[in-house]
Amino acid sequence: MDDLPLILTSLWQQAPVLVAAYDSFDRLQFANLAFRAAFFLGEDERPLWSEIMRRNFALQRGTVLKTNDFEQWLVATQSRRGKLGYRAFETDLYDGRWLWMTETVQSDGWMLCIASDVTDLRPDERAVRQARDFAIKASFTDELTGIANRRFVLARVSEMIAGASRREGVIGSVALLDLDHFKVVNDRFGHQTGDQILRDFAHRIQATVRRTDCFGRFGGEEFVLVMPDTDGEQAAEILGRMLCLIRDTRPIPEQPEFIYSFSAGIAVAENGDTAARLFDKADGALYAAKLAGRDCIRLHGQGLTDAPAIG
Ligand code: GH3
Ligand code: MG
Ligand code: MG
Repeated sequence: MDDLPLILTSLWQQAPVLVAAYDSFDRLQFANLAFRAAFFLGEDERPLWSEIMRRNFALQRGTVLKTNDFEQWLVATQSRRGKLGYRAFETDLYDGRWLWMTETVQSDGWMLCIASDVTDLRPDERAVRQARDFAIKASFTDELTGIANRRFVLARVSEMIAGASRREGVIGSVALLDLDHFKVVNDRFGHQTGDQILRDFAHRIQATVRRTDCFGRFGGEEFVLVMPDTDGEQAAEILGRMLCLIRDTRPIPEQPEFIYSFSAGIAVAENGDTAARLFDKADGALYAAKLAGRDCIRLHGQGLTDAPAIG
């Protein structure tokens, strides 16, 4: 049995099913021959998943992506990719094959992907299956920004809390992010520009979010970051970096002098906390951050945490 991992690797290498493992940074760490052939990967290459998709999209090969705007597609997909313990879906390749792709994610963020060729399997019902998958995806997506929506984020919070009894130590943290004086921004530049800023904000933050974390729009100009296995100090550091990032952002190209900020409240989950209690704590901390002058972070039960100094 000691040799089982080796035997498995050798079996996987030859199998016609596509097998790959990505680490928590979404970098490919193992892929069998069938996987490498389907996605045009060199023998020892270990690119990031986003690099594989970007490269193949540019050459119109590998996975068929139904989008004209790759970067927009990437942000939307990354906001949900690898956040569920298991998911399965049907996907097609430019070479005409249809794959049944499964993704299994461990709590440390490693992901196993296994895909089988289902091209000849009930092709007459494929349109229905795809419509179903599209509807499921839409039900988890925020329409304006393309990132995860309230429903998806709430499910991740519930999972984090439910998993607490099975794990030792830190459960995790939740942060509520609220853009500062956004009414004034709308009044000054109009609602459309306001929307543009919300999209810019969502995309910039999403690009910095770890795969084990989940970022979504809660509604209006309010966003949530769910950070399993993360204590208050770590969460404050993560949010502090985000404050700096947004301070340096110029979201309206025609108004290069325009800057904006957000405030955040962080709550650390404790044993027995419900999702509602956790959000109450985060909301209280957010209120304290607003009272403290905005453009800062507050941790529930603790003092003000300002961003690290810039420059
Ligand atoms: P504070 O710093 O206290 O958070 O001030 P604020 O003006 O951001 O707070 P408030 O909650 O009073 O106002 C939120 C504003 O956000 C109101 C609304 O005009 C704007 N807003 C909410 N949703 C959207 C949206 O989808 N698009 C745009 N453009 N604006 C929105
Ligand atoms: Mg608000
Ligand atoms: Mg606000």
